[in-house]
Amino acid sequence: MPIYKAPLRDMRFVLYELMDGDGLAALPGLETFDRTLTDAILDEAARLCETVLFPLNRSGDEEGCRFENGTVATPAGFAEAYRLFRNGGWTSLACDPAYGGQGAPATVATLFQEMMCSANLSFGTYPGLSHGAYVALHGYASDDIKARYLPKLVDGTWSGTMCLTEPHCGTDLGLIRTSAEPREDGSYALFGTKIFISAGEHDLTENIVHLVLARLPGAPKGTAGISLFVVPKVLPAEDGRPGLRNAVACGSLEHKMGIRASATCLMNFDGATGWLVGEPHKGMRAMFAMMNAERLAVGVQGLGLGEVSYQNAVAYARDRLQGRSLAGAKAPDRPADPILVHPDVRRMLLTARAHVEGCRALALWAARVLDDARHHPDPAERQAADDFVQLVTPVVKALLTDLGFETTNLGVQVFGGHGYIREHGQEQHVRDARIAQIYEGTNGIQALDLVGRKMPAHAGRYLRRFFHPVAGYIEAKSADPELAAFVGPLAKAFGRLQQATATIARRGLSRPEEAGAAASEYLHLFGLTALAYLWARMAEVSLPHVGEADPDGFYRAKVATARFYMERILPRTGALAAQIMAGGRTMMDFEDAAF
Ligand SMILES: Cc1cc2nc3c(=O)[nH]c(=O)nc-3n(C[C@H](O)[C@H](O)[C@H](O)COP(=O)(O)OP(=O)(O)OC[C@H]3O[C@@H](n4cnc5c(N)ncnc54)[C@H](O)[C@@H]3O)c2cc1C
Repeated sequence: MPIYKAPLRDMRFVLYELMDGDGLAALPGLETFDRTLTDAILDEAARLCETVLFPLNRSGDEEGCRFENGTVATPAGFAEAYRLFRNGGWTSLACDPAYGGQGAPATVATLFQEMMCSANLSFGTYPGLSHGAYVALHGYASDDIKARYLPKLVDGTWSGTMCLTEPHCGTDLGLIRTSAEPREDGSYALFGTKIFISAGEHDLTENIVHLVLARLPGAPKGTAGISLFVVPKVLPAEDGRPGLRNAVACGSLEHKMGIRASATCLMNFDGATGWLVGEPHKGMRAMFAMMNAERLAVGVQGLGLGEVSYQNAVAYARDRLQGRSLAGAKAPDRPADPILVHPDVRRMLLTARAHVEGCRALALWAARVLDDARHHPDPAERQAADDFVQLVTPVVKALLTDLGFETTNLGVQVFGGHGYIREHGQEQHVRDARIAQIYEGTNGIQALDLVGRKMPAHAGRYLRRFFHPVAGYIEAKSADPELAAFVGPLAKAFGRLQQATATIARRGLSRPEEAGAAASEYLHLFGLTALAYLWARMAEVSLPHVGEADPDGFYRAKVATARFYMERILPRTGALAAQIMAGGRTMMDFEDAAF
């Protein structure tokens, strides 16, 4: 039977000992989020995820969603779980109190998201998409639309979607064809077909609020001519309650590799009534607000799935008896040793552990700075924090989902053939993790965003928000002999990153394809260096506790994992730097006809 226990000990370590979680309550608007409240939320979140959502993960995957007469039935147990989820106030956790939300910090919401993704990613897509819709409406809709829709999205009686993709356009949204024709009453009639719409139709809520990208008549070509509309499944009556059915319907469900309990829908808009959100032709701006929030959340999906896969792999490696330790039998009274003794199995487990704990620290770093960007009283601090979040958003999305996929794959490998069959649940984690590298902008597009937009932004101002603290840390700690095993490798990787940054900036000026060819490796070089910085800091925080003050060995294991990261994972930056320096010639000169 698959297992999942929320990693609260490590979460609290990162939150309080690394990211100044106690400082959250000093920010205006977050005063109530002291340690007592935060810990109570995390404990309750863990209980919900472990006992309500996780038990439905495997059955949800096996049953999948069913399309029947234009409606979608979620798997058995999902409707009841959603009712508990909603009644528990979880849909409102990170929402504005002005609309009934609890106003929780992004840090707390991120930890909850991680637990939800570990326990049941498919389930998490429904409230996840709703929150994205909430973010776009909250940021850009008129007061009237906000008053009508936000309280329902916040209390979870209604859910939301984001409708961007069409059959002929995914990455290149400038190709969108869905049209919106103005009506005399100020509303619009929307015509078109959207595909791959997560939570487009389901039986969890009484209404579904679609946020739809479409073109107004005579709109400029490309992304400069796209507007955003709110299109409810059921039109709200004057008193706010659901009224007439709108002309938007699910045409079919996709059958897919993973997240099979998440409804992925083809949606037809046949003159559906909608209302403009924000200004005409400025829809991409609002959609980006939604996508940025979603991109951090999708990164956390990779982290959550890596965590649950790792937990199961460790339990199996302790239990499964095969072969003898190369150093002599470790369990001579048993027919064989547990596979945990084998160097290759330990390599896989420690790689998974280092990925998961490092990625948790990176996700929380981004979330903690996001809280500063939203709540800090000093506008200059808010700006600096926002710069940092802009910079690391593509890194969090792509690195955490790439490493999450690698981790779930290792989780299968530790189980051998038993990982490949369904019984133990490990293969589901691989299938579920795969989509996170694709949606919300493929990881290749995240890398282009980092190199093409974030790197040169404001003459390198965003980059400095990362480079300066890391350089300052290396300078301050490099003479400390206790930290040499951590700061030395960090400095080496950071040097590679600086050199790669300068090279890409220089080459990209004359040949933009050079920057494109280096982008994915650059994102990983950046991400692994960021993890090295966090691992060095985690080792620094942990070292004083090793020994008597560490009865369960938590800090000892943290330092040992930091050493493993520096010695066995960080050297990947050497290969990445070499790939970047080699340039894109071999790719771009290859003849098209020869592929
Ligand atoms: C399960 C699932 C759920 C989804 N949920 C939603 C949803 O709720 N709402 C929604 O609107 N969409 C959703 N999507 C769609 C998803 O966001 C798109 O699939 C994704 O953005 C990629 O678009 P595409 O599939 O058309 O691939 P394409 O854009 O055709 O890309 C194909 C390949 O080409 C690469 N590529 C494309 N353009 C460039 C470029 N300029 N430079 C470099 N490489 C490039 C891509 O990285 C990719 O590797 C979902 C998809 C799936 C499978």
